[in-house]
Amino acid sequence: MIQDLSTRLKNSGIKPSVQRLKILEYFLHNRNHPTAAKIFQDLNTEMPTLSQATVYNTLALFKEKHLIKIISSEDQNARYDLTDNEHGHFYCKQCREVYDFPYNYADNYAQLEGFAIESEEIIIKGICKKCLERTSK
Ligand SMILES: [Zn+2]
Ligand SMILES: [Zn+2]
Repeated sequence: MIQDLSTRLKNSGIKPSVQRLKILEYFLHNRNHPTAAKIFQDLNTEMPTLSQATVYNTLALFKEKHLIKIISSEDQNARYDLTDNEHGHFYCKQCREVYDFPYNYADNYAQLEGFAIESEEIIIKGICKKCLERTSK
């Protein structure tokens, strides 16, 4: 597992370190679009030496190397997601949950033939089913 993670970092041009491996592992295990604060909070309990600055720096590096991306939610705090599998997002304005749904970007690019695409994101905003059900009761 650690070996895989290490290869993954190297393939993205990132030198593996204990902290970086830990943060990548966190992303793989937590597909809930965490904020930097949440990552720090969760990892700090098992890794007291981890600083907030390291988390922020690592996220910036991962982002620069396209390992993760920021979801354009309306949250004040950036929410992160791995870029490893294509999907769209639904952002609930009420509970601030970010839901994944399958979306194949390439299928929709007929009109963008010859364009250089640097990032891609589908984000749908509204109120999720859970919140709708809760308020209708
Ligand atoms: Zn909701
Ligand atoms: Zn996602």
